Amino acid sequence: MADPAECTIKVMCRFRPLNSSEVVRGDRYIPKFQGEEDVIIGGKPYMFDRVFQSNTTQEQVYNACAQKIVKDVLEGYNGTIFAYGQTSSGKTHTMEGNLHDTDAMGIIPRIVQDIFNYIYSMDENLEFHIKVSSWEWQTVSKTNLSVHEDKNRVPYVKGCTERFVCSPDEVMDTIDEGKSNRHVAVTNMNEHSSRSHSIFLINVKQENTQTEQKLSGKLYLVDLAGSEKVSKTGAEGSVLDEAKNINKSLSSLGNVISALAEGTAYIPYRDSKMTRILQDSLGGNCRTTIIICCSPSSYNECETKSTLMFGQRAKTIKNTVTVNVELTAEQWKQKYEREKVKNTTLRNTVTWLENELNRWRNGESVPVEEQFDKEKANAEVQALDNIINEKQASTPNVPGVRLTDVEKDKCEAEVVKLYKQLDDKDEEINQQSQLAEKLKQQMLDQDELLASSRRDHENLQAELNRLQAENEASKDEVKEVLQALEELAVNYDQKSQEVEDKTKEFEAISEELSQKSSILSSLDSELQKLKEMSNHQKKRVTEMMSSLLKDLAEIGIAVGSNDIKVLPCPVNGYYNEEFTVARLYISKMKSEVKTMAKRCKQLEGTQSESNQKMDENEKELAACQLRISQHEAKIKSLTEYLQNVEQKKRQLEENVDSLNEELVKLSAQEKVHAMEKESEIQTANEVKEAVEKQIHSHRDAHQKQISSLRDELDNKEKLITELQDLNQKIMLEQERLRVEHEKLKSTDQEKSRKLHELTVMQDRREQARQDLKGLEETVAKELQTLHNLRKLFVQDLATRVKKSAEMDSDDTGGSAAQKQKISFLENNLEQLTKVHKQLVRDNADLRCELPKLEKRLRATAERVKALESALKEAKENAARDRKRYQQEVDRIKEAVRAKNMARRGHSAQIAKPIRPGQQPVASPTHPNINRSGGGFYQNSQTVSIRGGGSSSSSSIAGGDIKHEKK
Ligand code: ADP
Ligand code: MG
Repeated sequence: MADPAECTIKVMCRFRPLNSSEVVRGDRYIPKFQGEEDVIIGGKPYMFDRVFQSNTTQEQVYNACAQKIVKDVLEGYNGTIFAYGQTSSGKTHTMEGNLHDTDAMGIIPRIVQDIFNYIYSMDENLEFHIKVSSWEWQTVSKTNLSVHEDKNRVPYVKGCTERFVCSPDEVMDTIDEGKSNRHVAVTNMNEHSSRSHSIFLINVKQENTQTEQKLSGKLYLVDLAGSEKVSKTGAEGSVLDEAKNINKSLSSLGNVISALAEGTAYIPYRDSKMTRILQDSLGGNCRTTIIICCSPSSYNECETKSTLMFGQRAKTIKNTVTVNVELTAEQWKQKYEREKVKNTTLRNTVTWLENELNRWRNGESVPVEEQFDKEKANAEVQALDNIINEKQASTPNVPGVRLTDVEKDKCEAEVVKLYKQLDDKDEEINQQSQLAEKLKQQMLDQDELLASSRRDHENLQAELNRLQAENEASKDEVKEVLQALEELAVNYDQKSQEVEDKTKEFEAISEELSQKSSILSSLDSELQKLKEMSNHQKKRVTEMMSSLLKDLAEIGIAVGSNDIKVLPCPVNGYYNEEFTVARLYISKMKSEVKTMAKRCKQLEGTQSESNQKMDENEKELAACQLRISQHEAKIKSLTEYLQNVEQKKRQLEENVDSLNEELVKLSAQEKVHAMEKESEIQTANEVKEAVEKQIHSHRDAHQKQISSLRDELDNKEKLITELQDLNQKIMLEQERLRVEHEKLKSTDQEKSRKLHELTVMQDRREQARQDLKGLEETVAKELQTLHNLRKLFVQDLATRVKKSAEMDSDDTGGSAAQKQKISFLENNLEQLTKVHKQLVRDNADLRCELPKLEKRLRATAERVKALESALKEAKENAARDRKRYQQEVDRIKEAVRAKNMARRGHSAQIAKPIRPGQQPVASPTHPNINRSGGGFYQNSQTVSIRGGGSSSSSSIAGGDIKHEKK
């Protein structure tokens, strides 16, 4: 209560650290901190009540933001903590954190813990009743919880579950339960949390059992939806944009804050349910702290700036706080009396003043003592007040006004009716706003439809233009085609002329060809004849030759028996001469023939001889080759042998050398011996001689052997050289023969080549002849086709000419047919365009129909969904009602029992007291009760936390909770 009544909203700013994906992306860390109250972004400083850097712990945040609020709430003030910021800026981390980790837990679990710790340390006469409730508002869903106002015109959320709690564990259970319920309904947590506000309300009521003083405090803990969607509209405080998917409640929050900051008279609290519920937190009776959560990444700079701007605006809002005291009946009565007195005195004052005014107006001058005296009036009021106080002091327990039961009932009925009306109005407002939303949607749809149809229209227009252009183009084309046709006809005439010329030419050529071919055939036949003649002549020549030979043979025979034949011939002088001449001739001939025959024989002989020689030579060659190889082998063996002999020789020489050495040695020895033993000289000499002789003979033999060996060696060498020479010769011969052979071969080859050429030439000629024939045939064929074509063309031309003549008889001119054709084509074109247009129109109609149908479908789907949800709700309500009824019955039973007990003098209470000074007892409620019984107590049953009692026991029987105070 030490704080002044008016206080500004506290705004704290918290920056989270860069998360891993931002680090991976390489984002910059943009905030620069200056002291505890300033942060600089993009060179611009922003000041708040406190700025938390990224490394601030949860505990530090709690101590700075929330600890004081706990105390305030327990002293009867209202409190609110908001977390505002874009998605994943750390709102949930700040408000909830890790609920079951002592270091990482956020503000809510710490507050819960602290509230209870605080209560345990307070005055023993206080009794606390703590009620928690939590709910979420999805910003897109239309079936949300509705907001109503209670009898003190304080808005509350209708239908949200509330629960009386008496230990931190129970609160945490409630939170966990709420979370698990949400898990069932939503799959994508992140998306969900970015689109919904989650609100946690702790309601603390306390009563001093001695003074009956009642205080109440409400603490709202709000985790707002992600602010990013609103940044372009609401955060700027501008008029709400009509774009879809806007987080309406957030933008209205922005609007409320802007209006409050600007000091506008009208604050649009009723724009959204959330601002209605939090009306007190914003510019009302509440101590409010806003924690704006920011991302430090350069990627989010824009959002961060707009978040900071929001915080700056919110900082200027002023709230007026008062303690929420609940008056007792007595206090109410006093207040009533006092007000009544005040009222009467004020009325007196008014009448007095009116009288005085009238008098002044009427021109009277009012004397000073009759003028209104404020002090006097105040004194009068004071006196009356005192009288009332005295009266009350003297009659403490007599109630002033008593309502009869009937009146009470009436009043209650009236109140109920009024509430009903209020509810109805709320419902109506809700419906109206939904309707407005729907209508807006419809407007948008219509606009869209309009735009699309306009677009279609434009498209169609463009299409039409295009088609017209095409039509023009095709007309031009047709004209061109006709021109081309004319040209073609002219061309055709020319061509046909040419063709005629060509055919004539061709005929001439073919005639020539036939002439040539006939000449060719005649030449052929001549050639044949000549061949025959040559054959014939050859034959004759051979015949003549054979006859001549025969003659010669006969002559030969005749020559052989010349004398015999000549002798018997009758001879006279004339014949004799001739005979002699003939004989001379014959003899000559005979000799010649003889010589010829001889030569012939000789030649034959030489030929056969040479053949034989050839054979022999070949054989010899083969033999020589064989021999050469043998000799080579021999040479090889001889060289080897030579080498052996050489070696032997060397050995022998070595032997000789060694022997010589021995000899020298021996002679030396002998000399020594001779010198030493002169006595024995003679014998020794003899011996020496013998030895020398022996040696001599030995050496001679040796020498002889060597010489013979050397001779042998020489012989062998000679032999080798001879053999080599022979070999050389044979090789030469062989070479020569080979060369000859080659020559023969080449001549043979040449001949065969010539023969081949001749045959090829013959073949070619034959082929050429055949080709010529084929050519002739094809030419004839082509000619035929050409002829046919010409005929056709001529026919066509004739018909055309006829037609044109007919046309000429009409007066339309030569291009009538063409015109007809053009008109036909145009007709076709028109029909086609008509069909096309029709199709386009149909298409457009269908397209128009489509969105309508889609909308209808959507509407029905929505209706079905709504009906389903309504059904579900109705079922749930029924279940709840049943439960409530059951509980009511139980409660009444309990109350009756309690009353009975009280009448009997026992003190029993339906309350679970928690008292200051008492250690936090283990939650007396059975944890299963809450869950098995659907979870929540309704407002009707209270579980209170009381001061004073050192311990309390509770027993649970049949779902009832019975508490006995010791
Ligand atoms: P929001 O509720 O604003 O969408 P969250 O609270 O879910 O964002 O935070 C997003 C992520 O960032 C979470 O994984 C959270 O643990 C982490 N985070 C937020 N603030 C901090 C902080 N101050 N220190 C460490 N991690 C944080
Ligand atoms: Mg969140």
